[in-house]
Amino acid sequence: MDTLTYDAVVVGAGPGGYPCAIRLGQLGVKTLCIERENWGGVCLNVGCIPSKALITAGRKYEEARHNFDEMGIVLGGAPTLDMGKLQAWKGSIVKRLTGGVSTLLKANKVDQLVGEAKAIDPHTLEVTKPDGTVVRVQAKHVVLATGSRPIEIPGFSFKDEPVMDSTKALALAEVPRRLVVIGGGYIGLELGQMLNKVGAEVTVVEAQDSLLPGFDPEVTKLVARACKKSGIRVVLQAKALGWEQAEDGVVVRIQTAAGEERLAADKILVTVGRRPNAEPWASALGLQVERGQIVVDKQLRTSVPGVYAIGDVASGVMLAHKATHDGEVVAEVIAGHTAFNDARTVPAVVFTDPEIATAGLQEHEAAAKGYTLKVGRFPWVANGRALTQIETDGFVKVILDAADDRVLGVTIAGPHASDLISEAALAVEMDAEALDIGLTIHPHPTLGEAVMEAAKAALGEAIHIVNK
Ligand code: FAD
Repeated sequence: MDTLTYDAVVVGAGPGGYPCAIRLGQLGVKTLCIERENWGGVCLNVGCIPSKALITAGRKYEEARHNFDEMGIVLGGAPTLDMGKLQAWKGSIVKRLTGGVSTLLKANKVDQLVGEAKAIDPHTLEVTKPDGTVVRVQAKHVVLATGSRPIEIPGFSFKDEPVMDSTKALALAEVPRRLVVIGGGYIGLELGQMLNKVGAEVTVVEAQDSLLPGFDPEVTKLVARACKKSGIRVVLQAKALGWEQAEDGVVVRIQTAAGEERLAADKILVTVGRRPNAEPWASALGLQVERGQIVVDKQLRTSVPGVYAIGDVASGVMLAHKATHDGEVVAEVIAGHTAFNDARTVPAVVFTDPEIATAGLQEHEAAAKGYTLKVGRFPWVANGRALTQIETDGFVKVILDAADDRVLGVTIAGPHASDLISEAALAVEMDAEALDIGLTIHPHPTLGEAVMEAAKAALGEAIHIVNK
C-alpha cells in the first residue's frame, strides 16, 4: 500500500475544509485535502447555493405574477415555469463554484485526493479511492471537516420515492402538486415557500408551538402570517406518524392535539435537522462527543492531540460561514500562530419570505440573560427604498444594553436582511454603541437607513417614525 506523508491533512472539502486547506497552503504548510464525492461540500452542491438559486427564481416568478402589474410592467400573459431549465441554470452555478474549489486548492499548492477516509490512529488515515485501491496517509495534524447529513425519522425512509430529504427536493424535475413539509425549521420553510411560489400546495407540519423555533416570536409570527397569506397551511404541535400510498398520490398521517389527521400529498419533504458525520471518527480515535458533535476548544482542538474538528461536525451552530471561520482559525493554529475562535456572534440568516437575519442576541435571549434593554424598532413601511421595491413587510430591531447603550444584537425581518446583517455583526464584534450606527452616515435611499434609524429609535431619536 502506498503511503503519502503531509504536515496537515484535511478530511472533507466543504466550506469548512476547503478554506482551511487553502489557508494552510497560503501559510506554507504541506497539505492534502481529501473529499469522497462533493468538492465544495453540502453548501455548494446540495445546500446553500442551489437552494438560494431556486429561492431567487421563486421570488422572481412571484414578482412577475404580482408586482409587475402594479408597476405598470405588462407581460404577454401569465408567466410559466420551465423546471428543467431552472434546474439546468442552478446546476451551472453549482458547477462553476465547485470547479473553482479545485482551482483554488491547486493554486495554493494543496494536493487533492478523491476517496473515503477512515482513521487508523490520530496521525494515520486510510483512503479508499473510487477505483477501490487504498492509500495510507500520514500527517502530523488531522483536521476533520466531514460535515453533516439529513436526519431520517421513523416511517419516512428517504429511499422511498415520495419521501424527500433536502437533496432530493433541490433536484425535483417538476413542481409537486401537493407537498407536505415535515419540520418548520429554516430548510423546510425556505424550500416549502419556494415550491409554493411556483405552484405547489404546501402544508408544513411542526412539532413545536411555532415555526423557526428559537427565533424572536415577533419574527416567527411574521413568517407565519406570510405563509398564511400565500396559502401555506401550518400545523403546529403535530407529530408525523407515517405515510401510505393512496389512489391519488399519498396520505401523510399526523398526530395533532385534536387527534389524528390525514394529509393528501404527492411529495413529502422531511427537514427535521441534520446529524453530524462524527462517527466512525469518534469511536476510532476516542474523541469526546456532545449532542452528536465532536467537542473542540477555541483552537478547534479535539480531546486527542493532533486531531482537530471544524464546521458542522464540531461544536457550535451548523452554518457554512461558521465552518469557514473555524477552518481559517485552525489553519493559523496548525501553522503555529496564536489564533482563537473567539467570535462574539455567528450571524444567522433564513432565506424565507420575508428574509430573517440576526446577529448577537435576540430580544428574548437578551432579556433571559437579565439585561435591562432598550429596543429600537424601525418598520420597512417607513423606508423609502423598501416602498420602491414593494417590500414593506417586517422591521429592523436593535437591542441595546440600557446600562451603556451597547449593541447587544440586531434582528432584521424583511428585504435583503441577509445582506444588511453584516453591519450588525460588525457592530456586535466591535462592541459598538447605538450612536456608532446612528451617527454613521448611511446613503439614501437605501435599505441600510433602516438599520441606522432603528439604532436611533432605541434612543428615542429616530427621524422617520414617531418615537415612543
Ligand atoms: P459539509 O459541507 O457537509 O462538507 C463535508 C464534506 O466532507 C462533504 O463534502 C463530504 O462528502 C465530505 N466527507 C465526509 N466524510 C468523509 C470521509 N470519510 N472521507 C472523505 N470525505 C468525507 N448554511 C448557511 O450558512 N447558509 C445557508 O443558506 C444554508 N442553506 C442550506 C440549505 C440546505 C438545503 C442545506 C442542506 C444546508 C444549508 N446550510 C446553510 C448549511 C451548510 O450547508 C452547512 O452548515 C455547511 O455545508 C457545513 O460545512 P462543512 O464544511 O462543515 O461540511
